[in-house]
Amino acid sequence: MSRLLNNKTKRLVPYTPGEQPKDAQYVKLNTNESPFPPSEKAVKYAQAELDRLMLYSDPDCTPLVKKAAEVFGVAEDELLFTNGSDEILNFAFMAFCDEERPVAFPDITYGFYPVFAELNGVPYEEIPLDKDFKVNVEDYISIGKNIFLANPNAPTGIALGLDEIESIVKSNPDNLVVIDEAYVDFGAESAIGHIKKYDNLLVTRTFSKSRSMAGARLGFGIACRELIADLNTVKYSTNPYNVNRVTMAAGTGSLCDEEYTLKNLEIIKENRELTVCELEKLGFKVLPSKANFVFACHPFFDGERLYKLLKENGVLIRHFNKQRIKNFNRITIGTKEQMQTLTNKIKTIFTSEGLI
Ligand code: PMP
Repeated sequence: MSRLLNNKTKRLVPYTPGEQPKDAQYVKLNTNESPFPPSEKAVKYAQAELDRLMLYSDPDCTPLVKKAAEVFGVAEDELLFTNGSDEILNFAFMAFCDEERPVAFPDITYGFYPVFAELNGVPYEEIPLDKDFKVNVEDYISIGKNIFLANPNAPTGIALGLDEIESIVKSNPDNLVVIDEAYVDFGAESAIGHIKKYDNLLVTRTFSKSRSMAGARLGFGIACRELIADLNTVKYSTNPYNVNRVTMAAGTGSLCDEEYTLKNLEIIKENRELTVCELEKLGFKVLPSKANFVFACHPFFDGERLYKLLKENGVLIRHFNKQRIKNFNRITIGTKEQMQTLTNKIKTIFTSEGLI
């Protein structure tokens, strides 16, 4: 820490991203990336931008917004694109939350919410998930605070139904409800259809997971035009060129190739069910997941130890050092071959430990 750091930043505990190893070739199942390359159209559109890099990108993301409006069935001014969905989440904290407008979110959820709250000086309440790691909808009814909910939740993978989301949005008309749909494509119901009905609803999405574009950094928000205009005030007060031209083009290409995304989604869902089956056969308890990962623990094997042994064996999964979930690991769903490697390595470990 330097002598010059201000008090606000001194207090910050930054978000810890999942490992991006440089030392070895791992079967990488730790950061919920797609195992598939981006759509060929995304690559082709991106390549066409490379010799135009001397020019700033279009701050309005015009072609991307036009295409996304068509794909998601909303108006162009109901959309805002950002540098990953992390950026739109931070914009939402910056625009709508402060000392007088505190926030609530689950005790076990995306680790960036408390970081953004701290960064922006926003008081926050962490509401415990129930004993089955589900969001208890009643806890959020008429809570009178801004709400951030990942649906499906991370790292549990458990999703609320659309009627449950609606009851939360409806009962908090004077507060913002953010539904973070980073993983919705893998089997949950989207709340996008409700943005015309509720002017306090912001849905956030990402191209990082279902669209195989984590490295491009592209996310977006969908909400009524007034909320989007407020978020644009923050965007134009921080970085109007937040989406670079290569990413913008790749995003448009991806949206022009829905067939490819849908095909990959089906494979991931199928691999998820196969993986759950294999893990359950090995004695794991696996939470019901609607995401591209599963959250699993074993009654006779320490979660952190399994994470470490798998890493030594070339398979990277994600362990969180948090009391309530310290026996769990989050495992990204990859290709069938990657998942077979995972279960084979677990079998080898369990055999050498005399567990099977
Ligand atoms: N929300 C959730 C629940 C996530 O797990 C992630 C990925 N770490 C994000 C948002 C942000 O993803 P990105 O910035 O890559 O769009």
